Amino acid sequence: MTTGMIWTERAMWHDSGNQFGPHSPWLEPAPHPESADSKRRIRHLLDASGLSDQLAWIRPAPASEEALLRVHSPEYLERIRATAERGGGNIGVKAATHIGANGFELAVLAAGGAISAVDAVISGQVDNAYVLMRPPGHHAERSEGKGFCVFNNAAVAARHAQAVHGLQRVALVDWDAHHGNGAQQIFWDDPSVLAISIHQERAFPPTIGAVDENGAGAGLGYTVNIPLPPGSGEGAYMAVMEDVVAPALRMFEPELIIVPCGFDAGHFDPNARMLLTSESFRRMTVFVMALAAELCQGRLVFVHEGGYHLQSVPFLALATFEALSGHRTEVNDPFLPTMQGLPMQQLQPHQAAVVEAAAAMLRAHPPRAKR
Ligand SMILES: [Zn+2]
Repeated sequence: MTTGMIWTERAMWHDSGNQFGPHSPWLEPAPHPESADSKRRIRHLLDASGLSDQLAWIRPAPASEEALLRVHSPEYLERIRATAERGGGNIGVKAATHIGANGFELAVLAAGGAISAVDAVISGQVDNAYVLMRPPGHHAERSEGKGFCVFNNAAVAARHAQAVHGLQRVALVDWDAHHGNGAQQIFWDDPSVLAISIHQERAFPPTIGAVDENGAGAGLGYTVNIPLPPGSGEGAYMAVMEDVVAPALRMFEPELIIVPCGFDAGHFDPNARMLLTSESFRRMTVFVMALAAELCQGRLVFVHEGGYHLQSVPFLALATFEALSGHRTEVNDPFLPTMQGLPMQQLQPHQAAVVEAAAAMLRAHPPRAKR
């Protein structure tokens, strides 16, 4: 297996600002959790472990305006461009989503990185790919940046796969701990993109992502939400994979699977309350790889989203890269023994009820392949 790694140091120079949290004169400024460090340290462990040598490193090309406009409105692009030209600032309406003077250029490069990954996978240059770029994308809607996200990188990549490579059906399996609201809004009435989001119930955005939000019109059934309760562990996530993700993908028959991959469902993350370990991410990655092999010649692209705990995120990512590339390093995750022993790692009844509700929605409105 060859795994493509889309990376450039320039993406680490995205300026996410220095203020995150509710507006209050009493909140002392602190480093933003969406930092270069939380991504660079992934690269550091890949390098230190030797896994870097097994990856095919790919330099991202900027997204074209045409590619961005398949997802975002012209007015929104102009707003981001103008904010950067003013020297940067907050681009979101509510949440603190900040860009610097280089913000437009780097957001265009992050979206372009996702496109580069799709090109490399569909052309057969690599078997699968991981896009480790900033700013992240899965909260970005058509005309609004949110939750540290500027352009919806995964959505831009899905539309590129359709428009340029002629794919008819692309599936998104978003396992960031927060809701994939951007894809839900962008693809709400579109049966050509299956948007699955596994997230912590009402974490962010707090008003969206319920199990009965299922798409509309021709897209009814093609939005799938699994809002797991806080405290969910590997048992709950694997139940979702087996009882919702696998049947949904088999009904939909995607030609490409994109995973908006956050590591903030990891056990130490400051911005979510889930319990996943490095082994959980390895299992989930192996699971979705098997589905990609069964359904779409293994075509699989991971696009980095959240994941903020500086010490543990690199180990969650390393396990994911080991699974994707098929190369096991000698590294042992030092956080694993403590967390694997937690009793709440097993599927709990109140979590099983959510999984069953999502599976029932799937039976009521099956996202069947439309040709
Ligand atoms: Zn997140």
